Amino acid sequence: MAKRKTSLTSKAPTSVVTGGAGFLGSHLVDLLFSKGHRVIVIDNLVTGSTDNIAHLAGNAAFRFIHQDVTEFLFLEGPVDYVWHFASPASPIDYLELPIQTLKVGSLGTHKALGLAKEKGARFLLTSTSEVYGDPLVHPQPETYWGNVNPIGPRGCYDEAKRFAEALTMAYRNQHQLETRIVRIFNTYGPRMRLRDGRVVPAFISQALQNKPITVFGDGSQTRSFCFCSDLLEGIYRLMMSNYSDPVNIGNPREMTMLEFAQATLKATGSRSRIVHRPLPQDDPKQRRPDITRARQLLKWEPKVHLEIGLARTIDYFRGRVSVR
Ligand code: UDP
Repeated sequence: MAKRKTSLTSKAPTSVVTGGAGFLGSHLVDLLFSKGHRVIVIDNLVTGSTDNIAHLAGNAAFRFIHQDVTEFLFLEGPVDYVWHFASPASPIDYLELPIQTLKVGSLGTHKALGLAKEKGARFLLTSTSEVYGDPLVHPQPETYWGNVNPIGPRGCYDEAKRFAEALTMAYRNQHQLETRIVRIFNTYGPRMRLRDGRVVPAFISQALQNKPITVFGDGSQTRSFCFCSDLLEGIYRLMMSNYSDPVNIGNPREMTMLEFAQATLKATGSRSRIVHRPLPQDDPKQRRPDITRARQLLKWEPKVHLEIGLARTIDYFRGRVSVR
């Protein structure tokens, strides 16, 4: 692939966001603009969409580069921050794209770290609660090493992110790169893909169409859902902090999937009934972040209640369910 060139002249900080056309990446881009950054998005649009960044077209401080981050990328001019957000992130996406998932977590992280090193930029890796696998410690603190099946259906994602964490620490230790690692727990909000298979868009779209709500297994498995604006505020604070070990960012309010199905029914006023489907292999039985570290270091904690965040997400999906 030909090298692409970008010229930047302004004194405003410059951020590169890999995966910036995705759900979380595009919200980060909006946050960075609100903080006065110039932003370069690199995205191959495998799971991202230009719809998420269309409102930035024509903005002189914004540039979109349509490229796979596993390929070498040449940028002219200074870069102050590299935010590595690129990766398929829903279980059905990484089941469909296991090799791409492994490549973006390994080769893509290598390229993004290389860019940060070349520019003397600060680097942030978006890791995941999946590094804890099906956890045997509950809630999960950053000191827990996890319970991951490397050859199971989730192995491609979990191990790619675990490798990415190891590589990030190696760049920090060997090259003295300024690095940050955030472990993201289940997050939801507008711009999630309607059909990405994750539980939030699945239940909301089913409820809005009065179709059966598909609870996997008996629905006793738990998750803890964080609204996207809370998550990004935590990630921004982490990047601006001086802390280089991993930090969990998520909402500690935990619920079963059956409870979440009921919350979705209530919030949408749906007539859907609940049906049960087989539990996918290696589906974690429980998940809740221990956010003591984020509270102490970043003075951060989530603010958006599930009922409020769910209402905003439902507003986004209303109207989209019938047309797609
Ligand atoms: N889930 C479900 N019905 C669905 C989709 C997901 O019951 O239609 C369950 C899934 O088995 C898991 C939880 O919801 O226990 C969260 O799944 P998701 O795919 O959102 O992400 P995960 O946290 O497993 O990565």
